[in-house]
Amino acid sequence: MNLIIIGAGIMGTTLATLAKEMAPELDVTILERLDHAGAGNSWVFNNAGTGHEANCELNYTPVDEEVISVEKALKIHAQFNIAKQFWAHLIEKGAIKDPKSFINRTKHCTIVSEASIEELRLRFKEMSAHHFFENMQFSEDFDEIKSWIPYLMEERPRDQKMAATVIETGTDVNFGALTEQMAAHAVQELGVKIEYGTHVKRVHRSPTGRWLIEAEQNGAEIQHRADVLFVGAGGGAFPLLKKSHLPFRSRFSGFPVGGRFLQAPISAEQAEQYRAKTYGKAAVGAPPMSVPHLDLRVAEGQHYLLFGPFASFKPVLEKGRGFFDYLKSMRLHDIPGLLNVAWSISRWLSIWCLRPSKARRACSRSWRASLRA
Ligand SMILES: Cc1cc2nc3c(=O)[nH]c(=O)nc-3n(C[C@H](O)[C@H](O)[C@H](O)COP(=O)(O)OP(=O)(O)OC[C@H]3O[C@@H](n4cnc5c(N)ncnc54)[C@H](O)[C@@H]3O)c2cc1C
Repeated sequence: MNLIIIGAGIMGTTLATLAKEMAPELDVTILERLDHAGAGNSWVFNNAGTGHEANCELNYTPVDEEVISVEKALKIHAQFNIAKQFWAHLIEKGAIKDPKSFINRTKHCTIVSEASIEELRLRFKEMSAHHFFENMQFSEDFDEIKSWIPYLMEERPRDQKMAATVIETGTDVNFGALTEQMAAHAVQELGVKIEYGTHVKRVHRSPTGRWLIEAEQNGAEIQHRADVLFVGAGGGAFPLLKKSHLPFRSRFSGFPVGGRFLQAPISAEQAEQYRAKTYGKAAVGAPPMSVPHLDLRVAEGQHYLLFGPFASFKPVLEKGRGFFDYLKSMRLHDIPGLLNVAWSISRWLSIWCLRPSKARRACSRSWRASLRA
């Protein structure tokens, strides 16, 4: 039996590794259009690297008429723990030599201004009652919050009402570095094949259930056949689905919104001052990915501060792919759904997309100021 995986990102390489661990006899091939693994969305600066375990993200604990729901947070925390167990297993067997190359401990904090203090207090009360979050701390004390996240407090007048929570055991994850190491291990030790420079154009399912995969490799048309197919192609999954004959293809459409971060390298001493990821509260009507946060990042031993995300509107599915890729993947029946999404986030898009980078820097200052309000 063979498994073909499209895309050598964190999803594709994780599945390849897991599949070979569970069933060594399986023939596994990854088809990747770029020339190395982990270079798409999983690359270190194409995401914020938060090990999402619901420590600090308010959007995982929605509040409805003063009733908070923590079910989603508990589920996400449990899932992330399974990922950590898998990574620990890879480290134990020597597949990853130095855990610090991809995972580093940072505090996970949430900070809110006066209007949201009661929500945060409620969240703290409900979450810290569960053993997953029993080490969460809550504070309204200026000095205590400053000791957790000095950069966010240093210019703030002491009489401003703020509240924050912290969990000391959060993580910053370099998914790109993790993917590269997993891919190397999968090839060298587990017998997974990775064909780089292979752009999959179409997938078809035969009546017998087998898959035909049509791709372009170094300018030549090639074909693969697979018993099992996994599409882990990030934004590239969208045109593959749309061009397929799968019955559910019309149930999905895509809206091209990206997120960009301001990024500054900092010294190891400065990083000691702010070993944290601090999440605020998203503006009303903004999509969850727009929650502002200030993050310490670690990449190849160098420390960075990241602030964002700022919306970017680029009608491309992934870096390095053209505008027409996106347009060609659209179908007439997608248009009403797209207009609906565009309308619901239009205010958010118009605020962020039309601002030049100078204004983005001003926004990072105003985020800090808005927490004073
Ligand atoms: C602004 C932003 C911030 C984020 N922050 C976080 C965060 O803090 N924490 C977190 O956990 N997640 C975060 N994410 C999400 C995270 O980046 C993605 O969920 C993750 O990287 C997806 O991995 P993947 O393997 O599915 O896709 P990718 O890493 O994009 O891998 C897909 C691969 O498929 C290849 N490919 C695509 N099309 C084809 C084709 N037709 N043929 C062959 N190969 C193809 C691509 O080249 C690529 O290598 C963030 C995302 C964004 C946009």
